[in-house]
Amino acid sequence: MAKAKILVLAGDGIGPEVMTASIAVMEKAAKGSGLKFNFEQDLAGGCSFDQNGTPLTDDVLKKAKKADAVLLGAVGGPKWDTLPHEQRPERALLGLRAGLKLFANLRPAKIIPALISASSLKPEIVGGIDLLVVRELTGGIYFGKPRGRKEIKGGFKAFNTEVYSTPEIERIARAGFEAARVRRKKLTSVDKANILESSILWREVVNQIAKEYPDIQVDHMYVDNCAMQLVRNPKQFDVIVTNNIFGDILSDAAAMLTGSIGMLPSSSLGEKKNRLGFPQGMYEPVHGSAPDIAGKGIANPLATILSCALMLRYSLGRDDIAQKMEKAVEVVLQKGYRCGDIMVSGEEGKIKVGTQEMADAVMKEL
Ligand code: NAD
Repeated sequence: MAKAKILVLAGDGIGPEVMTASIAVMEKAAKGSGLKFNFEQDLAGGCSFDQNGTPLTDDVLKKAKKADAVLLGAVGGPKWDTLPHEQRPERALLGLRAGLKLFANLRPAKIIPALISASSLKPEIVGGIDLLVVRELTGGIYFGKPRGRKEIKGGFKAFNTEVYSTPEIERIARAGFEAARVRRKKLTSVDKANILESSILWREVVNQIAKEYPDIQVDHMYVDNCAMQLVRNPKQFDVIVTNNIFGDILSDAAAMLTGSIGMLPSSSLGEKKNRLGFPQGMYEPVHGSAPDIAGKGIANPLATILSCALMLRYSLGRDDIAQKMEKAVEVVLQKGYRCGDIMVSGEEGKIKVGTQEMADAVMKEL
């Protein structure tokens, strides 16, 4: 098999710490599997601004386009907070998303039994949660035109436009169906079709695409009901597919059902297939650069380790190695290893560890 070409953009703050630890774990997990990696490291975010005067150079974007997948740590920090909008570290994320045409954001939310007590909901509600939010990432109200602000009598009016076309809905619906196919084969499409024309079209197109996937059970849910169901009975969901703004909100709510931000992976998939025949994608932890703990060696690397597992599953076609890594993380947590962010006060018998010790513990289980 060809070597998987991975562009590593560790970024700022805790990004480099969690990335180094995670790559070591992934290499260990892939040992003897036939899969080899060709890692290329580069700069994105504040560190790129410091060196190149821009958060994302054309050269890095070119390298990203040629890679089979991109691994991103985190970008940003107080040092760059006063820069003009176009030079802010976060612009690197937008540049990569647009440049790689990443239209589908996949965020799993799975409860790890050992961490049930870290959730803010009751154990009987969250026990067994294993869902995936597939969010449309490049359309809808965040990009729709017209948008703007006009002076009117008595003040201003400001406006945005929620707009979706048939092809845009088709490709995100297919991403949802494909994801459901390798899971429990249930897809919930979330919209507001009782009010919005764009949602009526969304629902029609999802039903049309459903004919290509007779093995998947489809239902439709209004977004307000979905928000309620996520906290009432989250176990009913397998894959949720939804538009940009609803997905932005629901994926945060779904993710937090499972506990700490230091645990949450995410992946964004593009239209383009990579050299291995799988969707090119960008993989990153949900958390930011955590400047308050950067450089202390205490950041939780598990979100990045789990992001590497998603990369193996979706962009490298190696679900077997992904599962091995996810299982190792579960075992380590069962054994009581905890970084500071997932220590629950009052819980006894837990072993507090830093970034490297946590990665070492995961490697020991592989
Ligand atoms: P944050 O996620 O960086 O931190 C929030 C809190 O969670 C902090 O107390 C932090 O210490 C803790 N935390 C986060 N990740 C952790 C981990 N792996 N282990 C242990 N604790 C962890 O969010 P913020 O403070 O709002 O933002 C800090 C910077 O990160 C800002 O510049 C922001 O713009 C940027 N940011 C970047 C991304 C990204 O790169 N995708 C995402 C969000 C925020």
